[in-house]
Amino acid sequence: MSSELETPAFQLAVAQFDQAAQAMGLDPNLHERLKLPQRSLMVSVPVRMDDGHVEVFTGYRVHHDSSRGPCKGGIRYHPDVCLGEVAALAMWMTWKCALAGLPYGGAKGGVKVSPARLSRGELQRLTRRYAAEIFPLIGPDRDVPAPDVGTDQQVMAWIMDTYSQQVGYAAPGVVTGKPLSVGGTVGREDATGRGVVDVTLEAMRHLGLNPSSATVAVQGFGNVGSHTARIMVESGLTVVAISDVTGGLYNSKGLAMKELWDHYKRDRRPLKDFRGGDWVTNEELLHLPCTVLVPAALSEQITERNAAGLQCRLLVEGANGPTTLEADRILADKHVFVIPDILANSGGVIVSYFEWVQDTQRFFWKPKDIQERLHDIITSAFHQTLAFAEQRHISMRMAALMNGINKVAQAHMDRGLYP
Ligand code: NAD
Repeated sequence: MSSELETPAFQLAVAQFDQAAQAMGLDPNLHERLKLPQRSLMVSVPVRMDDGHVEVFTGYRVHHDSSRGPCKGGIRYHPDVCLGEVAALAMWMTWKCALAGLPYGGAKGGVKVSPARLSRGELQRLTRRYAAEIFPLIGPDRDVPAPDVGTDQQVMAWIMDTYSQQVGYAAPGVVTGKPLSVGGTVGREDATGRGVVDVTLEAMRHLGLNPSSATVAVQGFGNVGSHTARIMVESGLTVVAISDVTGGLYNSKGLAMKELWDHYKRDRRPLKDFRGGDWVTNEELLHLPCTVLVPAALSEQITERNAAGLQCRLLVEGANGPTTLEADRILADKHVFVIPDILANSGGVIVSYFEWVQDTQRFFWKPKDIQERLHDIITSAFHQTLAFAEQRHISMRMAALMNGINKVAQAHMDRGLYP
Protein backbone atom coordinates (compact mmCIF):
# COMPACT_ATOMS: atom_id res chain seq x y z
CA MET A 1 0.00 0.00 0.00
CA SER A 2 1.41 3.41 -0.90
CA SER A 3 2.35 5.45 2.18
CA GLU A 4 0.01 8.34 1.24
CA LEU A 5 -2.91 5.92 1.62
CA GLU A 6 -1.85 4.83 5.13
CA THR A 7 -4.45 6.70 7.17
CA PRO A 8 -6.90 5.41 9.81
CA ALA A 9 -9.89 5.89 7.47
CA PHE A 10 -8.29 3.93 4.62
CA GLN A 11 -7.10 1.20 6.97
CA LEU A 12 -10.66 0.92 8.32
CA ALA A 13 -12.17 0.71 4.82
CA VAL A 14 -9.66 -1.96 3.76
CA ALA A 15 -10.05 -3.95 6.99
CA GLN A 16 -13.85 -4.00 6.52
CA PHE A 17 -13.37 -5.03 2.89
CA ASP A 18 -10.88 -7.78 3.83
CA GLN A 19 -13.29 -9.22 6.41
CA ALA A 20 -16.20 -9.25 3.96
CA ALA A 21 -14.08 -10.57 1.06
CA GLN A 22 -12.80 -13.41 3.21
CA ALA A 23 -16.27 -14.31 4.48
CA MET A 24 -17.67 -14.44 0.93
CA GLY A 25 -14.65 -16.19 -0.64
CA LEU A 26 -13.97 -13.37 -3.10
CA ASP A 27 -11.69 -14.21 -6.03
CA PRO A 28 -8.13 -13.31 -4.81
CA ASN A 29 -7.32 -11.38 -8.01
CA LEU A 30 -10.37 -9.20 -7.56
CA HIS A 31 -9.60 -8.83 -3.88
CA GLU A 32 -6.15 -7.41 -4.73
CA ARG A 33 -7.53 -5.06 -7.36
CA LEU A 34 -10.42 -3.70 -5.26
CA LYS A 35 -8.22 -2.95 -2.26
CA LEU A 36 -6.77 0.00 -4.15
CA PRO A 37 -8.32 2.89 -6.07
CA GLN A 38 -8.67 2.51 -9.85
CA ARG A 39 -7.16 5.98 -10.33
CA SER A 40 -6.21 8.92 -8.08
CA LEU A 41 -5.50 12.50 -9.07
CA MET A 42 -3.73 14.95 -6.80
CA VAL A 43 -3.87 18.60 -7.82
CA SER A 44 -2.43 21.94 -6.73
CA VAL A 45 -5.05 24.65 -6.49
CA PRO A 46 -3.56 28.16 -6.54
CA VAL A 47 -6.02 30.81 -5.34
CA ARG A 48 -5.70 34.60 -5.37
CA MET A 49 -6.74 35.60 -1.87
CA ASP A 50 -8.60 38.84 -1.17
CA ASP A 51 -5.42 40.58 0.07
CA GLY A 52 -3.68 39.87 -3.27
CA HIS A 53 -1.34 37.04 -2.28
CA VAL A 54 -1.64 33.56 -3.82
CA GLU A 55 -2.20 30.54 -1.61
CA VAL A 56 -1.79 27.00 -2.97
CA PHE A 57 -4.19 24.34 -1.69
CA THR A 58 -4.00 20.59 -2.28
CA GLY A 59 -6.94 18.76 -3.83
CA TYR A 60 -7.78 15.19 -4.80
CA ARG A 61 -10.22 13.21 -6.87
CA VAL A 62 -10.22 9.42 -6.56
CA HIS A 63 -12.10 6.78 -8.56
CA HIS A 64 -12.28 3.53 -6.66
CA ASP A 65 -14.09 1.43 -9.24
CA SER A 66 -16.04 2.21 -12.42
CA SER A 67 -17.05 -1.30 -13.49
CA ARG A 68 -20.79 -0.68 -12.95
CA GLY A 69 -21.09 2.85 -14.40
CA PRO A 70 -19.89 6.43 -14.01
CA CYS A 71 -18.18 7.14 -10.70
CA LYS A 72 -20.19 8.98 -8.06
CA GLY A 73 -19.14 10.66 -4.84
CA GLY A 74 -19.00 13.88 -2.88
CA ILE A 75 -16.44 16.64 -2.59
CA ARG A 76 -15.21 17.51 0.91
CA TYR A 77 -13.60 20.78 2.01
CA HIS A 78 -11.93 20.16 5.38
CA PRO A 79 -8.45 20.73 6.86
CA ASP A 80 -7.98 16.96 7.46
CA VAL A 81 -8.60 15.96 3.82
CA CYS A 82 -5.81 13.70 2.52
CA LEU A 83 -5.42 11.01 -0.13
CA GLY A 84 -6.07 8.13 2.30
CA GLU A 85 -9.32 9.62 3.58
CA VAL A 86 -10.58 10.40 0.07
CA ALA A 87 -9.66 6.89 -1.12
CA ALA A 88 -11.51 5.32 1.83
CA LEU A 89 -14.62 7.39 1.12
CA ALA A 90 -14.40 6.44 -2.58
CA MET A 91 -14.29 2.72 -1.69
CA TRP A 92 -17.34 3.05 0.57
CA MET A 93 -19.15 4.81 -2.30
CA THR A 94 -18.52 1.80 -4.57
CA TRP A 95 -20.17 -0.61 -2.12
CA LYS A 96 -22.96 1.89 -1.29
CA CYS A 97 -23.99 2.42 -4.93
CA ALA A 98 -23.90 -1.32 -5.62
CA LEU A 99 -25.91 -2.16 -2.49
CA ALA A 100 -28.66 0.29 -3.51
CA GLY A 101 -28.57 -1.05 -7.09
CA LEU A 102 -27.53 2.30 -8.60
CA PRO A 103 -25.61 2.09 -11.90
CA TYR A 104 -22.55 3.87 -10.51
CA GLY A 105 -19.03 3.23 -9.35
CA GLY A 106 -17.45 4.92 -6.33
CA ALA A 107 -15.52 8.19 -6.21
CA LYS A 108 -14.68 10.96 -3.80
CA GLY A 109 -12.84 14.25 -3.88
CA GLY A 110 -11.69 16.94 -1.56
CA VAL A 111 -9.56 19.98 -0.87
CA LYS A 112 -7.47 20.40 2.25
CA VAL A 113 -8.92 23.71 3.39
CA SER A 114 -10.98 25.24 6.15
CA PRO A 115 -13.88 26.74 4.12
CA ALA A 116 -15.12 28.88 7.03
CA ARG A 117 -11.86 30.85 6.81
CA LEU A 118 -12.46 31.86 3.18
CA SER A 119 -14.50 34.78 1.89
CA ARG A 120 -17.21 33.98 -0.64
CA GLY A 121 -14.97 35.21 -3.46
CA GLU A 122 -12.04 33.06 -2.30
CA LEU A 123 -14.34 30.03 -1.99
CA GLN A 124 -15.61 30.57 -5.52
CA ARG A 125 -12.09 30.95 -6.99
CA LEU A 126 -10.87 27.86 -5.09
CA THR A 127 -13.85 25.83 -6.33
CA ARG A 128 -13.51 26.92 -9.96
CA ARG A 129 -9.77 26.23 -10.06
CA TYR A 130 -10.21 22.84 -8.35
CA ALA A 131 -12.98 21.98 -10.85
CA ALA A 132 -10.70 23.00 -13.75
CA GLU A 133 -7.86 20.84 -12.36
CA ILE A 134 -10.02 17.70 -11.99
CA PHE A 135 -11.75 18.39 -15.35
CA PRO A 136 -10.07 15.37 -17.05
CA LEU A 137 -11.79 13.01 -14.60
CA ILE A 138 -15.32 14.41 -14.30
CA GLY A 139 -18.33 14.50 -16.63
CA PRO A 140 -21.93 13.21 -16.75
CA ASP A 141 -20.82 9.84 -18.18
CA ARG A 142 -17.53 9.71 -16.33
CA ASP A 143 -17.72 10.92 -12.75
CA VAL A 144 -20.45 12.97 -11.09
CA PRO A 145 -19.49 14.84 -7.87
CA ALA A 146 -21.92 15.96 -5.14
CA PRO A 147 -21.76 17.89 -1.84
CA ASP A 148 -20.10 16.45 1.28
CA VAL A 149 -18.65 17.97 4.46
CA GLY A 150 -17.90 21.68 3.92
CA THR A 151 -19.51 21.97 0.46
CA ASP A 152 -23.08 22.81 -0.56
CA GLN A 153 -25.34 23.52 -3.52
CA GLN A 154 -23.58 26.83 -4.27
CA VAL A 155 -20.25 25.01 -4.61
CA MET A 156 -21.96 22.49 -6.95
CA ALA A 157 -23.37 25.37 -9.07
CA TRP A 158 -19.84 26.81 -9.49
CA ILE A 159 -18.50 23.40 -10.52
CA MET A 160 -21.37 22.94 -12.98
CA ASP A 161 -20.64 26.39 -14.46
CA THR A 162 -16.88 25.83 -14.68
CA TYR A 163 -17.36 22.50 -16.43
CA SER A 164 -20.02 23.97 -18.74
CA GLN A 165 -17.71 26.86 -19.73
CA GLN A 166 -15.02 24.33 -20.69
CA VAL A 167 -17.28 22.14 -22.84
CA GLY A 168 -19.20 25.09 -24.28
CA TYR A 169 -22.76 24.17 -23.31
CA ALA A 170 -24.78 23.79 -20.11
CA ALA A 171 -23.98 20.38 -18.62
CA PRO A 172 -26.21 20.01 -15.54
CA GLY A 173 -25.52 16.26 -15.27
CA VAL A 174 -21.89 16.83 -14.26
CA VAL A 175 -22.78 17.32 -10.57
CA THR A 176 -25.72 16.60 -8.29
CA GLY A 177 -26.92 18.50 -5.25
CA LYS A 178 -27.23 21.65 -7.43
CA PRO A 179 -29.74 24.48 -7.00
CA LEU A 180 -33.09 23.91 -8.75
CA SER A 181 -32.33 26.79 -11.17
CA VAL A 182 -29.53 24.80 -12.86
CA GLY A 183 -31.07 21.33 -12.94
CA GLY A 184 -31.15 20.35 -9.28
CA THR A 185 -33.91 18.17 -8.00
CA VAL A 186 -36.51 18.69 -5.33
CA GLY A 187 -35.74 16.58 -2.28
CA ARG A 188 -31.93 16.38 -2.61
CA GLU A 189 -31.14 18.74 0.27
CA ASP A 190 -32.77 16.54 2.91
CA ALA A 191 -32.43 13.18 1.11
CA THR A 192 -29.68 11.72 3.30
CA GLY A 193 -31.56 12.62 6.50
CA ARG A 194 -34.82 11.28 5.07
CA GLY A 195 -33.12 7.98 4.23
CA VAL A 196 -31.62 7.80 7.73
CA VAL A 197 -35.12 8.16 9.19
CA ASP A 198 -36.62 5.63 6.73
CA VAL A 199 -34.17 2.88 7.76
CA THR A 200 -34.45 3.80 11.46
CA LEU A 201 -38.22 3.32 11.35
CA GLU A 202 -37.83 -0.02 9.52
CA ALA A 203 -35.32 -1.21 12.12
CA MET A 204 -37.59 -0.12 14.98
CA ARG A 205 -40.45 -2.08 13.46
CA HIS A 206 -38.16 -5.12 13.21
CA LEU A 207 -37.01 -4.72 16.84
CA GLY A 208 -40.53 -4.05 18.17
CA LEU A 209 -39.69 -0.52 19.34
CA ASN A 210 -42.33 2.20 19.44
CA PRO A 211 -41.28 5.47 17.71
CA SER A 212 -43.51 7.58 19.93
CA SER A 213 -41.54 6.58 23.02
CA ALA A 214 -38.13 6.61 21.30
CA THR A 215 -35.43 9.21 21.93
CA VAL A 216 -32.72 10.23 19.48
CA ALA A 217 -29.26 11.80 19.86
CA VAL A 218 -27.59 13.20 16.73
CA GLN A 219 -23.89 14.08 16.53
CA GLY A 220 -23.44 16.83 13.90
CA PHE A 221 -25.99 19.42 12.80
CA GLY A 222 -24.88 19.98 9.22
CA ASN A 223 -26.72 18.74 6.14
CA VAL A 224 -27.18 15.16 7.34
CA GLY A 225 -27.61 15.76 11.07
CA SER A 226 -30.01 18.71 10.91
CA HIS A 227 -32.43 17.13 8.43
CA THR A 228 -32.23 13.81 10.27
CA ALA A 229 -33.17 15.54 13.53
CA ARG A 230 -36.00 17.53 11.91
CA ILE A 231 -37.52 14.52 10.12
CA MET A 232 -37.16 12.33 13.24
CA VAL A 233 -39.32 14.87 15.10
CA GLU A 234 -41.81 15.04 12.20
CA SER A 235 -42.01 11.23 12.39
CA GLY A 236 -42.97 11.31 16.07
CA LEU A 237 -39.62 10.57 17.74
CA THR A 238 -38.14 12.81 20.43
CA VAL A 239 -34.74 14.33 19.64
CA VAL A 240 -32.94 14.81 22.96
CA ALA A 241 -29.49 15.89 21.74
CA ILE A 242 -27.72 17.46 18.77
CA SER A 243 -24.22 18.93 18.34
CA ASP A 244 -21.82 20.69 16.02
CA VAL A 245 -18.04 20.95 16.11
CA THR A 246 -18.21 23.22 19.20
CA GLY A 247 -20.28 20.81 21.37
CA GLY A 248 -23.89 19.83 21.86
CA LEU A 249 -27.23 20.46 23.55
CA TYR A 250 -29.12 17.92 25.64
CA ASN A 251 -32.68 18.01 26.94
CA SER A 252 -34.08 14.69 28.19
CA LYS A 253 -37.61 15.94 27.45
CA GLY A 254 -36.76 16.81 23.84
CA LEU A 255 -35.27 19.82 22.08
CA ALA A 256 -37.64 22.36 20.51
CA MET A 257 -36.66 21.61 16.90
CA LYS A 258 -38.38 24.52 15.14
CA GLU A 259 -36.89 27.08 17.56
CA LEU A 260 -33.49 25.39 17.24
CA TRP A 261 -33.62 25.59 13.43
CA ASP A 262 -34.60 29.25 13.54
CA HIS A 263 -31.81 30.00 16.02
CA TYR A 264 -29.02 28.07 14.30
CA LYS A 265 -29.91 27.86 10.63
CA ARG A 266 -31.92 31.03 9.98
CA ASP A 267 -30.29 33.44 12.47
CA ARG A 268 -26.84 31.74 12.31
CA ARG A 269 -26.35 32.06 16.07
CA PRO A 270 -24.03 29.78 18.09
CA LEU A 271 -25.54 26.53 19.33
CA LYS A 272 -24.31 27.33 22.83
CA ASP A 273 -26.56 30.42 23.03
CA PHE A 274 -29.74 28.35 22.54
CA ARG A 275 -31.86 28.25 25.70
CA GLY A 276 -33.62 24.92 26.10
CA GLY A 277 -30.89 22.37 26.69
CA ASP A 278 -27.80 21.64 28.77
CA TRP A 279 -24.39 22.00 27.15
CA VAL A 280 -22.52 18.70 26.57
CA THR A 281 -19.30 17.81 24.78
CA ASN A 282 -19.38 15.67 21.62
CA GLU A 283 -17.89 12.82 23.65
CA GLU A 284 -20.59 13.14 26.33
CA LEU A 285 -23.29 13.17 23.66
CA LEU A 286 -22.28 9.68 22.54
CA HIS A 287 -22.89 8.36 26.06
CA LEU A 288 -26.33 9.88 26.64
CA PRO A 289 -29.26 7.56 27.30
CA CYS A 290 -31.26 7.30 24.05
CA THR A 291 -32.99 4.74 21.83
CA VAL A 292 -31.25 5.85 18.63
CA LEU A 293 -27.80 7.37 18.22
CA VAL A 294 -26.98 8.95 14.84
CA PRO A 295 -23.36 9.96 14.29
CA ALA A 296 -23.62 12.50 11.43
CA ALA A 297 -20.27 14.30 11.50
CA LEU A 298 -16.90 12.72 10.76
CA SER A 299 -15.30 9.25 10.70
CA GLU A 300 -13.83 7.26 13.63
CA GLN A 301 -15.99 8.82 16.35
CA ILE A 302 -16.99 5.53 18.04
CA THR A 303 -13.87 3.66 19.00
CA GLU A 304 -12.69 1.04 21.48
CA ARG A 305 -12.19 3.94 23.92
CA ASN A 306 -15.84 4.99 24.12
CA ALA A 307 -17.98 2.19 22.58
CA ALA A 308 -18.62 0.41 25.89
CA GLY A 309 -20.29 3.56 27.25
CA LEU A 310 -22.90 3.89 24.49
CA GLN A 311 -26.43 3.51 25.86
CA CYS A 312 -28.41 3.40 22.60
CA ARG A 313 -30.34 0.40 21.27
CA LEU A 314 -29.79 1.41 17.66
CA LEU A 315 -26.76 3.02 16.04
CA VAL A 316 -27.63 4.54 12.66
CA GLU A 317 -24.55 5.74 10.78
CA GLY A 318 -25.39 9.01 9.06
CA ALA A 319 -21.68 9.78 8.69
CA ASN A 320 -19.25 7.68 6.67
CA GLY A 321 -16.95 5.42 8.69
CA PRO A 322 -17.93 6.66 12.18
CA THR A 323 -17.31 3.29 13.88
CA THR A 324 -13.97 1.47 14.11
CA LEU A 325 -13.63 -2.33 13.84
CA GLU A 326 -12.85 -2.69 17.57
CA ALA A 327 -15.92 -0.62 18.45
CA ASP A 328 -18.03 -2.83 16.16
CA ARG A 329 -17.05 -5.87 18.22
CA ILE A 330 -17.90 -4.12 21.50
CA LEU A 331 -21.29 -2.98 20.14
CA ALA A 332 -22.07 -6.51 18.93
CA ASP A 333 -21.44 -7.81 22.48
CA LYS A 334 -23.79 -5.12 23.81
CA HIS A 335 -26.46 -6.15 21.24
CA VAL A 336 -26.62 -2.68 19.74
CA PHE A 337 -28.35 -2.92 16.34
CA VAL A 338 -26.06 -1.12 13.86
CA ILE A 339 -27.32 0.18 10.52
CA PRO A 340 -24.04 0.66 8.65
CA ASP A 341 -23.11 3.83 6.77
CA ILE A 342 -23.25 2.33 3.27
CA LEU A 343 -26.93 1.55 3.92
CA ALA A 344 -28.02 4.21 6.43
CA ASN A 345 -26.75 7.28 4.56
CA SER A 346 -27.41 6.05 1.01
CA GLY A 347 -30.47 8.33 0.67
CA GLY A 348 -28.14 11.10 -0.53
CA VAL A 349 -26.71 9.18 -3.46
CA ILE A 350 -30.09 7.62 -4.28
CA VAL A 351 -31.66 11.06 -4.78
CA SER A 352 -28.47 12.23 -6.53
CA TYR A 353 -29.12 9.40 -8.96
CA PHE A 354 -32.68 10.72 -9.46
CA GLU A 355 -31.24 14.18 -10.13
CA TRP A 356 -28.81 12.82 -12.75
CA VAL A 357 -31.58 10.81 -14.45
CA GLN A 358 -33.79 13.93 -14.58
CA ASP A 359 -30.90 16.03 -15.97
CA THR A 360 -30.18 13.40 -18.62
CA GLN A 361 -33.83 13.16 -19.65
CA ARG A 362 -34.53 16.90 -19.23
CA PHE A 363 -37.72 15.79 -17.50
CA PHE A 364 -38.36 16.66 -13.84
CA TRP A 365 -40.28 14.80 -11.18
CA LYS A 366 -42.61 15.84 -8.36
CA PRO A 367 -41.57 15.78 -4.64
CA LYS A 368 -43.92 12.82 -4.10
CA ASP A 369 -42.15 10.77 -6.82
CA ILE A 370 -38.79 11.46 -5.18
CA GLN A 371 -39.87 10.54 -1.65
CA GLU A 372 -41.72 7.38 -2.71
CA ARG A 373 -38.91 6.11 -4.93
CA LEU A 374 -36.29 6.89 -2.26
CA HIS A 375 -38.38 5.03 0.31
CA ASP A 376 -38.78 2.02 -2.03
CA ILE A 377 -35.08 1.71 -2.81
CA ILE A 378 -33.68 2.29 0.68
CA THR A 379 -36.20 0.12 2.53
CA SER A 380 -35.78 -2.74 0.10
CA ALA A 381 -31.97 -2.47 0.51
CA PHE A 382 -32.56 -2.55 4.28
CA HIS A 383 -34.75 -5.67 4.14
CA GLN A 384 -32.42 -7.50 1.74
CA THR A 385 -29.52 -6.74 4.07
CA LEU A 386 -31.48 -7.81 7.16
CA ALA A 387 -32.61 -11.08 5.55
CA PHE A 388 -29.02 -11.88 4.47
CA ALA A 389 -27.65 -11.00 7.93
CA GLU A 390 -30.18 -13.26 9.65
CA GLN A 391 -29.69 -16.11 7.20
CA ARG A 392 -25.88 -16.04 7.57
CA HIS A 393 -25.79 -15.02 11.27
CA ILE A 394 -23.60 -12.02 10.44
CA SER A 395 -23.78 -8.33 11.32
CA MET A 396 -25.74 -5.83 9.26
CA ARG A 397 -22.40 -4.25 8.28
CA MET A 398 -20.97 -7.51 6.96
CA ALA A 399 -24.22 -8.29 5.16
CA ALA A 400 -24.33 -4.86 3.49
CA LEU A 401 -20.67 -5.03 2.47
CA MET A 402 -20.97 -8.56 1.11
CA ASN A 403 -24.06 -7.64 -0.91
CA GLY A 404 -22.38 -4.58 -2.39
CA ILE A 405 -19.05 -6.29 -3.07
CA ASN A 406 -20.81 -9.23 -4.68
CA LYS A 407 -22.50 -6.99 -7.26
CA VAL A 408 -19.19 -5.28 -8.09
CA ALA A 409 -17.43 -8.64 -8.37
CA GLN A 410 -20.14 -9.90 -10.74
CA ALA A 411 -19.66 -6.86 -12.99
CA HIS A 412 -15.90 -7.50 -13.12
CA MET A 413 -16.41 -11.19 -13.89
CA ASP A 414 -18.90 -10.43 -16.68
CA ARG A 415 -16.76 -7.70 -18.25
CA GLY A 416 -13.48 -9.64 -17.95
CA LEU A 417 -9.98 -8.28 -17.47
CA TYR A 418 -8.81 -5.70 -20.05
CA PRO A 419 -6.87 -6.15 -22.33
P1 NAD B 1 -21.70 19.21 6.93
O1 NAD B 1 -20.42 19.92 6.66
O2 NAD B 1 -22.96 19.79 6.39
O3 NAD B 1 -21.90 19.00 8.51
C1 NAD B 1 -20.93 18.41 9.34
C2 NAD B 1 -21.36 18.61 10.79
O4 NAD B 1 -20.41 17.98 11.64
C3 NAD B 1 -21.39 20.08 11.21
O5 NAD B 1 -22.47 20.27 12.11
C4 NAD B 1 -20.05 20.25 11.96
O6 NAD B 1 -20.07 21.32 12.91
C5 NAD B 1 -19.95 18.90 12.62
N1 NAD B 1 -18.59 18.55 13.01
C6 NAD B 1 -17.44 18.78 12.35
N2 NAD B 1 -16.38 18.31 13.03
C7 NAD B 1 -16.89 17.72 14.14
C8 NAD B 1 -16.32 17.04 15.24
N3 NAD B 1 -15.00 16.88 15.34
N4 NAD B 1 -17.15 16.58 16.20
C9 NAD B 1 -18.48 16.75 16.11
N5 NAD B 1 -19.08 17.39 15.09
C10 NAD B 1 -18.29 17.87 14.13
O7 NAD B 1 -21.49 17.72 6.39
P2 NAD B 1 -22.60 16.66 5.96
O8 NAD B 1 -22.81 16.77 4.51
O9 NAD B 1 -23.75 16.75 6.90
O10 NAD B 1 -21.82 15.29 6.21
C11 NAD B 1 -21.72 14.69 7.51
C12 NAD B 1 -21.31 13.24 7.33
O11 NAD B 1 -22.29 12.56 6.54
C13 NAD B 1 -19.98 13.00 6.64
O12 NAD B 1 -19.40 11.84 7.16
C14 NAD B 1 -20.39 12.76 5.19
O13 NAD B 1 -19.42 12.03 4.46
C15 NAD B 1 -21.66 11.95 5.41
N6 NAD B 1 -22.60 11.96 4.29
C16 NAD B 1 -23.08 13.11 3.76
C17 NAD B 1 -24.01 13.05 2.73
C18 NAD B 1 -24.65 14.29 2.16
O14 NAD B 1 -25.57 14.14 1.36
N7 NAD B 1 -24.23 15.48 2.51
C19 NAD B 1 -24.41 11.81 2.21
C20 NAD B 1 -23.91 10.65 2.78
C21 NAD B 1 -23.01 10.73 3.83
